[in-house]
Amino acid sequence: AAKEEGGNGFRFYSSEMNARAVARMDLESNLRRALDEKEFFIEYQPQIDLVSNRMAGLEALVRWRHPQLGVIPPAQFIPLAEETNLILPLGEWVMEQVFLQCCRWHANGLANRQVRVAINVSGRQFDQADFVEMVKRLLQQTGAKAHWFEFEITENVLMKDVQRTIATLRQIRELGIHVAIDDFGTGYSSLSCLKHLPLNRLKIDKSFIADIQTNADDRAIVSATIAMAKRLDLEVTAEGVETEGQYGFVYQRDCDEVQGFYFCRPLPADKVLDACRKHLDES
Ligand code: C2E
Ligand code: MG
Ligand code: MG
Ligand code: MG
Repeated sequence: AAKEEGGNGFRFYSSEMNARAVARMDLESNLRRALDEKEFFIEYQPQIDLVSNRMAGLEALVRWRHPQLGVIPPAQFIPLAEETNLILPLGEWVMEQVFLQCCRWHANGLANRQVRVAINVSGRQFDQADFVEMVKRLLQQTGAKAHWFEFEITENVLMKDVQRTIATLRQIRELGIHVAIDDFGTGYSSLSCLKHLPLNRLKIDKSFIADIQTNADDRAIVSATIAMAKRLDLEVTAEGVETEGQYGFVYQRDCDEVQGFYFCRPLPADKVLDACRKHLDES
């Protein structure tokens, strides 16, 4: 309302609620500026194959280097970017950057290691009628190969309109891009729908891994989820593995891959090839 009255509106805000709205407005214009000023950057977290002990994949994770506030994690700006639709240009920027980065890596030695790179796709992006067209265009423009990539999509996004999801996933899969269901267990998957989705991978949310050693319920959930994923012919990744005990638990239950601080934190792009050559590729 204050906006409509002209001026900058600030003097109309007095309550705490309005103060928060102002802070949000500020963050929103900050986000817009950040996109123009190229303040975002991408880190990559290794995903380790439990059988070979090698790096099987990398997940691209966006960060914001704010000139005053320092590095801001995605949990603090992705939700707002989604609300304001800024996720569309941001998500496209991330995808383009990752595609370009992978072209450079493949020119420099990642090719023979068959490391797949995962990109998070938000609901807003996935819902765009021209999402697949956008992906195709970026592949063409950058020269990146579809089979290098996997899209991570959360279960609520996938379950929203299952018929449409199936059609879109088929198009993505036809391009040669793999699809993972992200944060599995935190949303509302219908198991009967799950079996109809053309997925490649299920990622168990880190909240179930966190207390695996002290909480019998979490152990039961993780064991059952791994078993179900295998029955459905999906690869399964445990997220947020921080300790040897957590690693041992999912290893014993035949989980395919782990991602977590126990093995490696998200890395700046220029550290990835080294990590790949050194401790993650010795076997
Ligand atoms: P996510 O897709 O589930 O990504 C995994 C998150 O878990 C990352 O947090 C990662 O740093 C963190 N993580 C990995 N291993 C461990 C561990 O052992 N312990 C703990 N405590 N955390 C671990 P991050 O980078 O802060 O990202 C948070 C979320 O932001 C992501 O969750 C994803 O939903 C979203 N996000 C990140 N980048 C993008 C992006 O480019 N596009 C979209 N749409 N969302 C993104
Ligand atoms: Mg993810
Ligand atoms: Mg996740
Ligand atoms: Mg595997």
